[in-house]
Amino acid sequence: MNQSEISKAVVEALARANGAGCNVRARYTECALTVGVPGMGGFEWIDATPEQVLRLADDPTAIYAELVGLTKAEYLEWFESQGLVYCSGTTVKGQRCKNPIVRPQALSAQDWKKLREDGGYCHAHGG
Ligand SMILES: [Zn+2]
Repeated sequence: MNQSEISKAVVEALARANGAGCNVRARYTECALTVGVPGMGGFEWIDATPEQVLRLADDPTAIYAELVGLTKAEYLEWFESQGLVYCSGTTVKGQRCKNPIVRPQALSAQDWKKLREDGGYCHAHGG
């Protein structure tokens, strides 16, 4: 694609993404695009590439994950848990313990990822 075709495609992608319920806006020029990534307590506006905006409407979650530096699965877990990290312990039924290991909620994506990698246990499991 040449430059004008790319711009046209991005403008169309912006409309398509917004129509699909995403929040995306062009800032200053078409080269500066920001996407409202659903996070803790609202949206976080993060710069995105035109290429990411082109893919946004098809798989918003994947792009949100890329923008906050998580995998898609991590992003979903982070978002659905509201930034809580769950215990690494196992319940008597053999399932992953659902107790959080940290009291502060709404960890940022990167704080959450780091804490999750470190692991830990709830009070019931010796944390
Ligand atoms: Zn536990």
